[in-house]
Amino acid sequence: MSTEIKTVEGITKESTQAMIDEVLELYPEKGKKKRAAHLAPNDQASGSACVKSNKKTVPGVMSARGCAYAGAKGVVWGPIRDMVHVSHGPVGCGWYSWGTRRNLMSGITGVNSFPMQFTSDFQEKDVVYGGDKKLATLLKEAKDLFPLAKGISVLSECPVGLIGDDINQVAKVAAKELDIPVIPCNCEGFRGVSQSLGHHISNDTIRDYIIETREFPEPIGPYDIALIGEYNIGGDAWSTKPLLEECGFNVKAVWTGDGEMDRIAATHQVKLNVIHCYRSMNYMCKVMEEKYGIPWIELNFFGPTKIRESLRKLAELFDDSIKEKVEAVIAKYDPQMQAIIEEYKPRLDGKKVMLYVGGLRPRHTINAYEDLGMTCVGSGYEFAHTDDYDRTASEMPDATVVYDDASEIEMEHFAHILKPDLIGSGIKEKYLFQKMAIPFRQMHSWDYSGPYHGYKGFPIFARDIDMAVNSPTWKLVDAPF
Ligand code: SF4
Repeated sequence: MSTEIKTVEGITKESTQAMIDEVLELYPEKGKKKRAAHLAPNDQASGSACVKSNKKTVPGVMSARGCAYAGAKGVVWGPIRDMVHVSHGPVGCGWYSWGTRRNLMSGITGVNSFPMQFTSDFQEKDVVYGGDKKLATLLKEAKDLFPLAKGISVLSECPVGLIGDDINQVAKVAAKELDIPVIPCNCEGFRGVSQSLGHHISNDTIRDYIIETREFPEPIGPYDIALIGEYNIGGDAWSTKPLLEECGFNVKAVWTGDGEMDRIAATHQVKLNVIHCYRSMNYMCKVMEEKYGIPWIELNFFGPTKIRESLRKLAELFDDSIKEKVEAVIAKYDPQMQAIIEEYKPRLDGKKVMLYVGGLRPRHTINAYEDLGMTCVGSGYEFAHTDDYDRTASEMPDATVVYDDASEIEMEHFAHILKPDLIGSGIKEKYLFQKMAIPFRQMHSWDYSGPYHGYKGFPIFARDIDMAVNSPTWKLVDAPF
C-alpha cells in the first residue's frame, strides 16, 4: 500500500461532490437519498470505505449487476473444467452465460473438459409438478454420456427455489447411485443483491461437498501452495501459475480457472493459499485457515510494480532459497518490463482512466495503469463490500470519485464531466462510451485479448491500452462539415 497522497490536478473533494450532487438531481427523492450513500470522493489517507455497499439496487436505475447464479455458475463453479455444470431451471440463464466469460480451459471439450451448456430446460409442467424427477434423470444421463466427468454441480436458477424443489436430496441420492460427487448449489438469482452472494454460496458448497474429499497424488512438500480466486480469463492462470513455479513453488491447485475437481478437493494439504480475487473466495480461505491452519495472503499480479511487491511479500513467508529465486525472477523480468514501459509510457503518460468492474479489478488494476503513466480519476464496483472499499481508498488518488453499483446515467454523467482518455468496464458499457468517442477497454473479458496477469500479461495489457487510447478512429468521430 502506498502512503504518499496521490492527487489529480483540478480534482478536489468539493469538485467531485458537486459532480455527484448534480447527477443525484436526476433521481426522484427516494432514489436520490438511496444513491447518495453510494457515491463519494475518495479519502485516500483514511484507508477506509467512503461509500455504502452490498445493498439492494434501486429499482429502475439500469444497474450493471448480475445475480447469485452468475456469481456461482459463471464465476466459481463454471471454470472447473472436468465437471459437468448443470444450469437447473429454464433455458435462458445457462444460454446467456454459455462461453461468455473467458475462463479458458484445457482438455478435450465434451470428453474430459466441459465448457458446455447443460440445462434441465424447465417447461411449464416442471414448474407446476416440480423438477426433481427431471433432475434425477438428467444426472443419470450426464453420467452415462460423459463418463470422464469427475463430478456434477447443480446450479439452481430462480424458479427452483420458488417452487420448493429439494435439489439437495436429489443430489444426495444421485451421488450414491451414480458413484460420483453431485453438488447442489442453491444459488437462485433472487438470493442476495448481486453476484456476490453467489460467490459465498458456492464457497460454502465447496466447504460442504468438496474440500478434504481427496488427497494430492504427489508427495506433500514445503513449497506447496494453491492459487485461489484466479479464473484464467484469457489465460491469466497460465501466466501466473508458471511464474509462481519459477519462484520455486508447487502450485498444487488453482481455484477455479482451468481447475480440476480432485486438486481443489485436496487443497486442505497445501502450506499457503495465495488469493488473487479476495471478494469471490475470501470465504474459503478463512474456512481453510480455521479448519486446517492454512494461512493466506492477498497478492496482485497486475503490472510490474505490484508483481514485484507481491513476489517479495510472498517470499518473506518462506526460506532463503525462495527469496533468492524470487530476486532472480525479478531481476530477469524487470528489464523486460522496463522496455515495455519505455515503449508505451510516452504514448500514455498523463492520460486519465475511469474504471467500473466487478469486485476486484477496480482497485487491483490501478497500479498497472500508473506503471504506464496513467491516472485513475474514478473507480467503482458492481458488488464489492466494505472490506473491498477499505482496500481501494489507498490505491485511488485523493478526492477522485468512488461509485458503488453505479447506474448507466451516473457513469455517463461522470464521463461527461471528467472527460477520461479511457474507460475500463464491461460489455454493457462499451458501446455507449465508444459512441461518446471515449476510448474503451473491456476489463472483464480483456476485450477478447489477454492474459493481463503476471509478466506475460503486462506487455499485452500495455499494447491493448495504447491501441485503444491512441486509435486513429477517435479523430474521425466528428463529420468534417
Ligand atoms: S436472476 Fe434468475 S432468471 Fe435471471 S439469470 Fe439469475 S437465475 Fe437466471
